[in-house]
Amino acid sequence: MRRICIYCGSSPGARPEYAAAARHCGATLAARGVTVVYGGGNVGLMGILADAALAAGGEVIGVIPHRMMARELGHERVTQLITVDSMHARKQKMAEPADAFIALPGGIGTLEELFEVFTWLQLDLHHKPVGLLNVAGFYDRLVDFLAHLRAERFLKPEHFETLVVEDNVERLLDRFARFNHPPTGKWADKKPGAGGG
Ligand code: AMP
Repeated sequence: MRRICIYCGSSPGARPEYAAAARHCGATLAARGVTVVYGGGNVGLMGILADAALAAGGEVIGVIPHRMMARELGHERVTQLITVDSMHARKQKMAEPADAFIALPGGIGTLEELFEVFTWLQLDLHHKPVGLLNVAGFYDRLVDFLAHLRAERFLKPEHFETLVVEDNVERLLDRFARFNHPPTGKWADKKPGAGGG
């Protein structure tokens, strides 16, 4: 795996474990020669992640909208800072070069980015692994809610299973290496024009 896209909070969060995990994640990816692709920010877990990867000699690509750059929210020292016109363009530019995606703890921005790539996996639009780094049980309730979607038949069991959840980045990367995308996309058994869920 050459490039991994990381979604994470623009805030540091309430617990020191979150910053420690972002630091460890950045350093681990750098040590494995994996380029970090992220939102380009210098704040919160985003800044901590980028700083740690750079300090360990890794490459970091940031993708940030011009408007955020103008508000001095961009990281000054990343290997490559790509500026784009919109949040939509940014998500595309972050996702395209990545071989996998990891969400660290974060807020609604992180969740929005995570759910977009998870949805695209379910739709067969890509076959790259998507993972949650479940630091200090941060994502336990989200995983419970996804299990509720599965129980209520809004999410297929095989798609629920594709989300890789680990509390440790090394185990997450090991599971990525063995990742098999689901045999069928959400609509694979539907004839064109048949509709329905
Ligand atoms: P949140 O989880 O709400 O803090 O939002 C974090 C996610 O949204 C990141 O993965 C970024 O892609 C994007 N984002 C939010 N705020 C910023 C910022 N100040 N600079 C760069 N990206 C940001």
